[in-house]
Amino acid sequence: MTIAADPVLHSSVRDFLSRSGKLLIGGEWVDAASGRTFPTYDPATGEKLTEVAHAEAEDVHRAVQAARAAFEDSAWSRIKPNQRERLIWRIGDLLSERAEVFGQLEALDNGKSAGIAQVVDVGWSADVFRYYAGWATKIEGSTVNVSMPFAPEGAQFHAYTLREPVGVCGQIIPWNFPLLMAAWKIAPALAAGNTVVLKPAEQTPLTALLLGELFEEAGFPPGVVNIVTGFGDAGAAVAAHDGVDKVAFTGSTEVGKLIVDAAKGNLKKVSLELGGKSPNVVFADADLDIAVPGSLNAWLFNHGQACTAGTRLYVEDAIFEEFTQAVADAAAQVKIGPGLDPATQLGPLVSQEQFDRVSRYLAEGLADGARALTGGKRWGDEGYFIEPTVFVDVEPRFSIVREEIFGPVVAALPFNAEQGVAAAANDSDYGLAAGIWTRDISKAHRTARELNAGSVWINQYNGFDTALPFGGFKQSGWGRELGAEVISLYTQTKTVNVAL
Ligand code: NAP
Ligand code: MG
Repeated sequence: MTIAADPVLHSSVRDFLSRSGKLLIGGEWVDAASGRTFPTYDPATGEKLTEVAHAEAEDVHRAVQAARAAFEDSAWSRIKPNQRERLIWRIGDLLSERAEVFGQLEALDNGKSAGIAQVVDVGWSADVFRYYAGWATKIEGSTVNVSMPFAPEGAQFHAYTLREPVGVCGQIIPWNFPLLMAAWKIAPALAAGNTVVLKPAEQTPLTALLLGELFEEAGFPPGVVNIVTGFGDAGAAVAAHDGVDKVAFTGSTEVGKLIVDAAKGNLKKVSLELGGKSPNVVFADADLDIAVPGSLNAWLFNHGQACTAGTRLYVEDAIFEEFTQAVADAAAQVKIGPGLDPATQLGPLVSQEQFDRVSRYLAEGLADGARALTGGKRWGDEGYFIEPTVFVDVEPRFSIVREEIFGPVVAALPFNAEQGVAAAANDSDYGLAAGIWTRDISKAHRTARELNAGSVWINQYNGFDTALPFGGFKQSGWGRELGAEVISLYTQTKTVNVAL
């Protein structure tokens, strides 16, 4: 059965796929200057979904000019904060109203379960827009009591700070949470009064384009949000463009370093959310009823294609065998299938490239001497499915322990309570997240302080909230997104000092 004939498919999704995707530049939907397009695929079958415009440097340049014009002189540059609030809130409402459509489109383009996408990707994106809608009216400077050591005796001053938008923000996002990453980036940038040029990942351009339609519908002035679908060269053009004041990137550490290089020309502000190889630590006194399913979800959520994935599972030696076997048994029960099947818990990887990459790591792990308690190979013979894989008998030097695999693969290592776990857990170039499972609250908080990670979750994993800052230590990134902290990435402080 072809996708278009699938009876579960919402008519709006069918409709969207029947058009080919265009670029959103200055409020118009336009073709790429070259007229070129590229296909996007359903990873469950490899079937082509539709074509989208193939933006290159020239298109990025037009989008940056449109964003600049909207920032400098438009209804947007004169808008009141509470009007900005209402526009951004409206995006949240429209996403909630169309959650099923966005969820199905995300499932088709990325491979994840439509049901999960509807709740996690779309539901949370709506929450992100509403949360930052609220921030639009709450961005404040401060008044400062100055001493002015060189001023004459008796002189008086009134000093204060303003928090102003940075300007045109280039935002480059990955394929693992396509809509959600767009929301994390766009919502705070708009709350602070910036304009945006968004470059979605080549594998998953569709929900960003559908989101683009909502900005028009909500009543945003043209040019405030521009969307350019393309490949790495379009991302590079965004990062290097002199008309871009800030670049925000989520993706691999490798490309993150290229962004830093490209940003040098005009010293644009840079924030980076990069990879991880996060430790998930299970103490022998953990409540196994929650620690087993929680630790499974830690590495398997989103098919392991999550930057926070808890893929180094450290288990206290007293329970190592029992615990890893329980996780492996639970992994073997997971229902694998296409994202549109409501029974599916684990879908395909996003692309042939990602499938090849994960397969290579499986082969390397086995060749190094690791043993798969479950999985270790492809599932089925079509699409990009990999069986959930639990490796034991691993050594810290193995590539499956050191490198980000971005697939449904975990490496389990025992630790000894006397020696502690921090040294092993911190032995990584990354520092994005960590999990801790124990019934001992002092041990939990002590261990949280010892781990080098931007987020630490205790007796849960992936405990995200829009109000909580998120970002990486070490090579996992620069800056913090979400919460109040991201507002500082999208504003700059102006100091004003008046002699009275
Ligand atoms: P990536 O190559 O870092 O791509 C992320 C984004 O950057 C995409 O939009 C990509 O465009 C764009 N890009 C590629 N080259 C660029 C360049 N030279 N300058 C500016 N932008 C550029 O990540 P990926 O290929 O999607 O995934 C590869 C690995 O990255 C994964 O296996 C995983 O380890 C890591 N990753 C991490 C996260 C995270 O949240 N931390 C998310 C996704 C992936 P194209 O799509 O056209 O390449
Ligand atoms: Mg696709």
